[in-house]
Parts: sequence; C-alpha cells; structure tokens
Amino acid sequence: MDQPRKTSSPRHGTIESSIDRWQECHWHLHQMEMHYHNPEPFRYSLNSFIRAAKEVPGILQADLQNHAQVRAQVATEFEILNQNTLFVALKKRRDFLVHRGMLEPQSNGSVGTTEGHQIKVAIPFPVFPHESSDEAYERYIASCRTNKILRQLSGPDSGSGPAIWRTWLIPQFPGHDLLEVAFEAWLLTGRLLCAAVVALGEPPLDLELLCRHSVNDIQIKRFNRRDFFLRVDGIDIEEEARRYREFFDKHRKPSDS
Ligand SMILES: [Zn+2]
Repeated sequence: MDQPRKTSSPRHGTIESSIDRWQECHWHLHQMEMHYHNPEPFRYSLNSFIRAAKEVPGILQADLQNHAQVRAQVATEFEILNQNTLFVALKKRRDFLVHRGMLEPQSNGSVGTTEGHQIKVAIPFPVFPHESSDEAYERYIASCRTNKILRQLSGPDSGSGPAIWRTWLIPQFPGHDLLEVAFEAWLLTGRLLCAAVVALGEPPLDLELLCRHSVNDIQIKRFNRRDFFLRVDGIDIEEEARRYREFFDKHRKPSDS
C-alpha cells in the first residue's frame, strides 16, 4: 500500500500539527482498505481513523490561536465539517467508536462470479460481520456442494471466477459504506486545512488522493476458479483442458496446421 504523500509545500509551519494528524488519517484509510475483508483489523483501523480524524479540528483551532483572521476565513469550512455525518455522530457522543454489535444489523454480502473486471452474477449470501470473507467463502463452498441449484445459479463457468462481496454499514450512516464515510471525513478535514493553508498565504494542499482504491473494487474478494471446480464439482479444469488439447492435437489433420 502507498505511503501518505508529503504535501507539495515544505512550509505549513503554523498548522504543522493539524496537518500531521490529517496525514495520519490518510494512513489509517489505507489500513482500512488493506484489512477490508477481515472484521477485527478493519474495525481497529476504522476506529484509529475516527480517533485521529476527530482531533483534527481541535488541533487546528489550537494551531490558529494567534491567527484570528485566518480562523474567520475558515469558518465556513468548519461549519461544513460540523455538518458531516461522521462529525455529527462524534459530537453527539464524545467517545463514538464502532463496536462489533453496531455492524450486525446492516453489513451484508453476496456471492457470484466475475469475468475480468465485469461482474457476471451476484446473488445475496449472508457474510456475517464476525467472520472474514475467507470464512464466508468456505461456508459458500460447503453450500454449493450440497445445493446444486445454488451452485448453478451463482458458481463459475468456463469463463468466470468465484467472488464474494461484502459491505460495512452501521445504522448511523445509512447506505454509506464505512470506507466511504471515512474518505468523506478525510476530504472535509483536508478542505478545512487547505483553506487555512491558503489563508496563511501558502500553496493549497493536494486533496486528490490518487492512491485511494475504489470502494467497489475493495468490496470484492476474488477466489480461485480451479479450486472451486475441484472442491465443488470434483473436476480439475486444468487437467480437462490439457486432455482436450491432447485429443485435439491427435485428431488434427496435418493440413490444419
Ligand atoms: Zn495514499
């Protein structure tokens, strides 16, 4: 995973502490991406993100203690940040962190197949918030062995590979994956800091975050096609392909080549 990039300007001395905490948020965002398919590491990274993000506005206030004019210039950005869903939740409960139970009601998943980057089939399948995507996949494999209809509906064919999708949702942010919630909070804290930097007469911060991965891509975990066929259907597709090639070569007329 990428390291947080340094800001384009070596200065920002006045608000260095707030920018440092914001860079830390960037780091935690990548940890959330990296651990997305493992419940505890994901939740720990999320909570680290929340702890760091909620400190940014306060540190900025302290950094700007002797800059009343700059504080006035960034008042609008402060207001926008305070209306963000995550910061509203943080204001309601000072110790707001995501515990296991909060993830139970809404987080869910699907199984299906992908072909290249395209999703071919996706049908609902419970991916429980307490289990890793690998564990959910094992349950799915076991279900496909006994349930031929499920296997036919959702399993891979000759061109596609098996995959699992999952989401992390909590009732406080309906319909918003927690990875999106965190990114939005990162962006808004960044806009606030950027406004302060510009008001201090320095070049703006880089808010593009090109190293970020798409949430849709992160939500998918792809599995091995050969392994699926072997374990569910008892067929070694590579062996079959080899035999097919052999048969084809043997029966090919010399004029074909
Ligand atoms: Zn990055």
